[in-house]
Amino acid sequence: MLKIGASRTEITPRAGIWQAGFSARDRPSEGVHIPLYTRAFVFSDGERCAAVSTNDLVGLSRPEIVKIRKAAAMQCDGLSESDIMISCTHTHSGPAVSSYLRGQPKDWDYIERLCLMIADTIADAYRNMRSGRLYCDATEVEGFNHNRRNEEDYCEKRLAWLEARNEEQEFMGGIVNFTAHPTMLTGYLLSGDYAGVLTQHMEQQLGAPVGMINGCHGNINAHPRAREDYVVVDDHGARLAEETLRLRDAPEDAEVEGVVVRSRMVEVTFGPAQPRSVYEEVAADEEQPDFVREWANDVMAKYPGDPVDGSEEGEVMVIQLGRAVIIGIPGHAFAEIGRDIMAALPDKCVFIANHANDYLGYFGTQQAHEEGGYEVEFAYRFNSSFRWAMDADTTYRIQNAAIELANG
Ligand SMILES: [Zn+2]
Repeated sequence: MLKIGASRTEITPRAGIWQAGFSARDRPSEGVHIPLYTRAFVFSDGERCAAVSTNDLVGLSRPEIVKIRKAAAMQCDGLSESDIMISCTHTHSGPAVSSYLRGQPKDWDYIERLCLMIADTIADAYRNMRSGRLYCDATEVEGFNHNRRNEEDYCEKRLAWLEARNEEQEFMGGIVNFTAHPTMLTGYLLSGDYAGVLTQHMEQQLGAPVGMINGCHGNINAHPRAREDYVVVDDHGARLAEETLRLRDAPEDAEVEGVVVRSRMVEVTFGPAQPRSVYEEVAADEEQPDFVREWANDVMAKYPGDPVDGSEEGEVMVIQLGRAVIIGIPGHAFAEIGRDIMAALPDKCVFIANHANDYLGYFGTQQAHEEGGYEVEFAYRFNSSFRWAMDADTTYRIQNAAIELANG
């Protein structure tokens, strides 16, 4: 018999903390639009236990993930560190928390407390596990997102829903999966953006925790832009919540026979090594923004050779709950990558979490790498100390790992 636990804790920092997501913000936050939350969902078949943590945050990187997993597993006898998936919605109006992110000052005390709050929430969900069943369903919705690089290119319209009910068929908790950068808001109020509105709206209706995992949204934005018009975001999130609530009418039983967790470290590569002089020039160039010069210095400190060479790795994780499969990818992949993962798993109800277990940046398609642009050429100088942009081979290595792990 499956046991399920869910929990939620508010993690809103004090106003005055710097937000992360846009380099154009030139001052700290000035207030709160809606509170931010961490939510945890724990599943156990009596032998294996798995946890999914969803967070109204821009992203958490490996040092925070390691800390959270350790602090959570210490409190839960039957839950291993490696069986905990920690994902973020990637809201661009939350606090600056990923230790990789450049450009905004960080409140390290808050980050420390945040890691413990996320861990404690996982432990709370673990402690309140009760018998339950899982149900899932998916549909397609129009009018909520678009391909931000090219309107003609693929846009993921899928909206998926995973729901836990107890033996009395009462709602215990649920996870929404939709694909869109939470970049509607650009102002100075702390917010979970449309994703935060969506989950809070559902929680008000259903009375138990609802988490949101963001699909392969590397090239997909929520649409339209609201900038500082909070009414537009409130409406967007509420309408998406109504669409999700419709999926509750006749969801399919996920037919869970056991909890299965599989994960793999995948090699991250960056194309040809560059001579050290390339980085020295960037670091010395006063025309470059501070964060770019900082990046060049960090790379030189991290990779000592000449040419500057080296690879990294990233975790791909799969939690299988009967027909429902939750796939965690350590950054944001382009929508085509998620589409092809789902196409390779036709018998499963697939949930894809981006920014899960790490914050490695954009996994672009071969086509995107040929076209160039922000995601595949520049963004890594903001959010990593990688020696160069990740190559397309990395993207397909991640994609193949996701498919192989989900297929067992
Ligand atoms: Zn992003």
